[in-house]
Amino acid sequence: MQAPDRVVQCAMDRLPQTLGELEALSRIPSVSAPGFPPSEVSRCAREVARLLEEVGLQKVELLGPAGVHPYVVAEWTEAGPEKPTLLLYAHYDVQPPGRETHWHSPPFDPEKREGRLYGRGVVDDKAGILILISAVRAWFESEGTLPVNVKFVVEGEEEIGSTHLESFLLETKERLSADIIVLTDTANLETGLPSLTTSLRGLVNVDVHVKLLDHPLHSGMWGGPIGDAATALTALLGRLFDAQGEVILPGLSDDVPELSQHEKKALAELPFSRASFRTDAGLMPGSRTTAASEASVYEQLWNHPAVAITALEAIPLDRAANQLIDSAAARVSVRLAPGQNAERVRDLLVEFLSTNPPFGAQVTLECEAAVPGWRRSSEGSDIEAARRALARGYGREPVLIGCGGSIPFVAPFSRALSGAPAVLLGLEDPICNAHGENESLHLGDFRSALISAVHLLAEFSDFLEMQAEETGRVGEA
Ligand SMILES: [Zn+2]
Repeated sequence: MQAPDRVVQCAMDRLPQTLGELEALSRIPSVSAPGFPPSEVSRCAREVARLLEEVGLQKVELLGPAGVHPYVVAEWTEAGPEKPTLLLYAHYDVQPPGRETHWHSPPFDPEKREGRLYGRGVVDDKAGILILISAVRAWFESEGTLPVNVKFVVEGEEEIGSTHLESFLLETKERLSADIIVLTDTANLETGLPSLTTSLRGLVNVDVHVKLLDHPLHSGMWGGPIGDAATALTALLGRLFDAQGEVILPGLSDDVPELSQHEKKALAELPFSRASFRTDAGLMPGSRTTAASEASVYEQLWNHPAVAITALEAIPLDRAANQLIDSAAARVSVRLAPGQNAERVRDLLVEFLSTNPPFGAQVTLECEAAVPGWRRSSEGSDIEAARRALARGYGREPVLIGCGGSIPFVAPFSRALSGAPAVLLGLEDPICNAHGENESLHLGDFRSALISAVHLLAEFSDFLEMQAEETGRVGEA
């Protein structure tokens, strides 16, 4: 079913108010990280609840265990059992603002400049909340009803790892049961190019502590027969890479699923500019990418594992003395290809780093995270429905993309609400600088995404029939 023009018109007539609501929501510093006031996070939750109530959603509540930033839930299920139920997800918590002096306008006082809105959380993910709420509002105001049943869950601890999400979803499973999950917190490949994310990489983090001496020593009196912990650590880490910096951890890629020719072709057809890839990354003149492999950059980013040292500790330069350093530490971070076994890679890495350490140093390893990636089929009636909605909103055919990051909320949804397919879309574009300073939202894309959301509700109204037909076809084949 296609959304009537008047519903889209209604959303467009109300766009200035919607933007005002986004700005108001972005003025609340709902930083979920420890050390920031939790009262602001709850204030933001209450404001989201107020908006949900105002548009006509029912059973609006703040839920979740005490001491955990609340989940805002709401629903409207009067479309009836013959219509599908969409579970709509977004999050209202934000990252800390970072270095305030690096912001060109205050992080919690959003400002419009050159077609973008600047402020912490505007794109990640308060715009996601507003497009969903405003699409519902346009349907109610124009038609007095929705073409589908909807349930909302708006989270307050996404930026700190969605720690309690899975147990919350399991506890509220009945209440949140749905046929499709729509998660609006991912990125578009380019500004103005609508994108559906169909895979995420996983993550394994291992902290390596090296202890060689029980106290630092004078490097002149002892150096030579006695080594130092910083050398031991860097020599150990160096074994992960060859002289060119390519990862050589044995066995790392053993369980990376091979992409089909069709998938490789689809990746090769996506727009890509090596020059802007270099510039966007801020690669220094003369530096090269680590692309020794034949694979395209997208294949590497989304479908191959990667290893990085994300923390390194010994003695800072300004405290350097002629000393043999007694202990040193680092974090080894592995991004996993979707489909790789996170526990296997964790065990492999731990075994590799604890074998035969330089100078026989004491090595202690702590696993900080082991999260598998996620992948869904790039076909299906849900993807087709989302494609049509995005094409209408943006005036361009959407692309299917992967994501090199590891979004912690996706797997809990798939596990807790087993069977319901997840559609991932969002508003981040390459220059939005989410998590960094001067985070911003492209206002043209906000408009397009809102129109898409209006269409999305309509496109999913025949989902149950489409799904039944699809299963029938599979059954016959
Ligand atoms: Zn986010």
